[in-house]
Amino acid sequence: MPEYGALKDKFGDYCLFDEPAANFTTYQAGGKAEALVKPGSREDLEWLSGWCRAASVPLRVLGRGSNVLVSDRGLPGVTALTERLSKIEISCNTITAQVGVSWDALARLSVEHGLAGLEKTSGIPGSVGGALRMNAGAFGQEAFDRLENIDGFSVSGSPVRLEKKNMTYGYRRADGLDGLIMVSAGFVFAPGDPAVLLQDRSFILAAREAKQPLDYPSAGSVFKRPQGDFASRLIDAAGLKGLKVGGAEVSSKHAGFIINVGGATAADIYALMREVRARVKEKSGVELELEQILLGEF
Ligand SMILES: Cc1cc2nc3c(=O)[nH]c(=O)nc-3n(C[C@H](O)[C@H](O)[C@H](O)COP(=O)(O)OP(=O)(O)OC[C@H]3O[C@@H](n4cnc5c(N)ncnc54)[C@H](O)[C@@H]3O)c2cc1C
Repeated sequence: MPEYGALKDKFGDYCLFDEPAANFTTYQAGGKAEALVKPGSREDLEWLSGWCRAASVPLRVLGRGSNVLVSDRGLPGVTALTERLSKIEISCNTITAQVGVSWDALARLSVEHGLAGLEKTSGIPGSVGGALRMNAGAFGQEAFDRLENIDGFSVSGSPVRLEKKNMTYGYRRADGLDGLIMVSAGFVFAPGDPAVLLQDRSFILAAREAKQPLDYPSAGSVFKRPQGDFASRLIDAAGLKGLKVGGAEVSSKHAGFIINVGGATAADIYALMREVRARVKEKSGVELELEQILLGEF
């Protein structure tokens, strides 16, 4: 085990050891992070990255852990959570947000200021960084729609600025972000009527509540939408609603979600993912592609 004393000295209570993934992922399942650090500024994150580089310790950066499944064997090295990188500024039709701002706070602020283009992404429970990494989206809008640029630094510590116009991205995909630690992003909006945008937002939040099993821990849709169809429709058609492995269950409310109904291990969830994939393939011939990210050894 590396000598982590310097991290504890630097981050104090914001540095935890052997922290269960239940405490930093929305599945509330999986093993322990060897060291979990919550940097409070860009400088802190750069310092942490430099320290990990010098000590040859792996570093991974997470937002709200709402699109990941952490192995029961845990995460070696340092896991940085961005929740304290939470500055957000608005100027005319532009919003600049640090990566730890909750995506929904960005959506809400834009709506309140009559800035159109992200209102339909209201309620996505991730961070700005995680939403950009996944190009998260809903109801026909996605994170990249209003993006202008991303600021961050490379694993070697060099500052990087990416302009959206030079990037390629698509459905739940943003290329060229591997190895980049994102710190903040700029968004540019079209003008809209705040009353209409607020109405759209309320409608979307209500639709999420009605359709999604928000009472249970999950990480949202397990699989990407296959061409011309919906993963949830295929899973339902294969008769898999309610299928269980240990504490993991295919939601009866939304077949696209696997929920933790109590005490699920990552192995339970992973086994259920595989079972669902196999049975959908058998029934419909469609190979579902995982949207969620597996972290650690599976
Ligand atoms: C109830 C529920 C509903 C959901 N609904 C939707 C939906 O409608 N649409 C949708 O697209 N998704 C949805 N999701 C999934 C998830 O919320 C999104 O994918 C979200 O954008 C992930 O953000 P996060 O901060 O949790 O990312 P994390 O899960 O923490 O991380 C995801 C990836 O981003 C990387 N990352 C995060 N921050 C940084 C950074 N600063 N620098 C570099 N890499 C970084 C991580 O390393 C990881 O690879 C839902 C999830 C839940 C639980």
